[in-house]
Amino acid sequence: MKAVCWHGSTDVRVDTIPDPKILNPRDAIVKITSTAICGSDLHIYDGYIPTMEKGDVLGHEFMGEIVEVGSSVKNVKIGDRVVVPFTIACGSCFFCQKKLTSLCDNSNPNAWVAETLMGYTPSGLFGYSHMLGGYAGGQAEYARVPFADFGLFKIPDGLTDEQVLFLTDIFPTGYMAAENCNIQPDDIVAIWGCGPVGQFAIKSAYMLGASRVIAIDRVPERLQMAKDQCKAEVLNYEEVDVGEALKEMTGGRGPDACMDAVGMEAHGKGLEGFYDEAKQALRLETDRPTALRQVIVACRKGGTVSIPGVYGGFIDKMPMGAAMNKGLTFKMGQTHVHRYLQPLLEHIQNGDIDPSFVITHRMKLEEAPHGYEIFKHKKDNCIKVVLNP
Ligand code: NAD
Ligand code: ZN
Repeated sequence: MKAVCWHGSTDVRVDTIPDPKILNPRDAIVKITSTAICGSDLHIYDGYIPTMEKGDVLGHEFMGEIVEVGSSVKNVKIGDRVVVPFTIACGSCFFCQKKLTSLCDNSNPNAWVAETLMGYTPSGLFGYSHMLGGYAGGQAEYARVPFADFGLFKIPDGLTDEQVLFLTDIFPTGYMAAENCNIQPDDIVAIWGCGPVGQFAIKSAYMLGASRVIAIDRVPERLQMAKDQCKAEVLNYEEVDVGEALKEMTGGRGPDACMDAVGMEAHGKGLEGFYDEAKQALRLETDRPTALRQVIVACRKGGTVSIPGVYGGFIDKMPMGAAMNKGLTFKMGQTHVHRYLQPLLEHIQNGDIDPSFVITHRMKLEEAPHGYEIFKHKKDNCIKVVLNP
């Protein structure tokens, strides 16, 4: 089959590799009809996620049709049309029972590597390094899905791929990030980053009752989408001092909740930007936390900080004094996708949201290297790329 494979920093290729096989009675094989490139893939593309190996298949946002099932699979069958949550979960461990599926205890065969770095391991993820399981991803013609009974979500007839594809990741991610803001009536939520996750976070914050959402970025078409499609007020951080602007917009008090939908490759300005670029390049810090620092400082006293943006390791100059003395609450994590599938599908069916609004580019799987290139560099007004094998 054809698959998008990682060969090193900014080097992805479409290779021909063996088709996946059933390895375990609880596996299924999915023939992929649609898959997408995520901001999280860019962290791999840019070489910041450790334990990647040449030839690893990328991709964790994918859906398609089941073409083969293992002997123990009961809930799904050949021919079912399914979406695949990017977090791999067994459905029966302590964490899965608490619906914390991105923390599943049974899906990372390389748990010890993550344990060395983090104390305990999160769940395995598709196409996201050996430290997180070494699973082949879904930017491919076929994928093997472990724990198929729990990990495959059937899609009812009458919905297009583009309407449901983002149930795999970015819609639940934006939604959980908004839930993590603990939104109360009349709350003002500020969101750093107007990438796909930021866009879904804005819509979700309104769905959860925010009175105002203020979105921050510097890419004009992303700010435009946040404003036109998601009804956010927007701030371009190249044009205004974000901290000052937020104070002014909130009567001096600060936003009730602040969200970092940027993550470990935040763009920084001036001396701070230079500091993080240099330290990351020298591997003296693994992640650049520019947006996170601003989020913490801008948040009102007693407010909530929500972090869907991915961090991999260690950050520097974290304003812990501000966080502590202002009594902030922090909520974060890889998304517990499974628990959001049914409720968010219902929002799509009810017409509350059509997630396809975020797609700007559609291309064949073979064009993936070009897709990565334009998504990474925000060329051609690219916001979200869907690949069709
Ligand atoms: P993206 O790269 O398309 O978007 C990031 C946006 O942040 C860009 O528009 C960029 O211009 C903006 N940005 C950069 N520096 C900034 C700054 N200092 N202030 C404000 N904005 C800034 O990525 P995406 O797909 O939207 O994903 C966003 C983050 O969410 C990534 O870190 C990704 O890994 C993460 N993510 C997390 C989960 C999860 O389960 N928690 C799931 C999916 C994605
Ligand atoms: Zn993703």
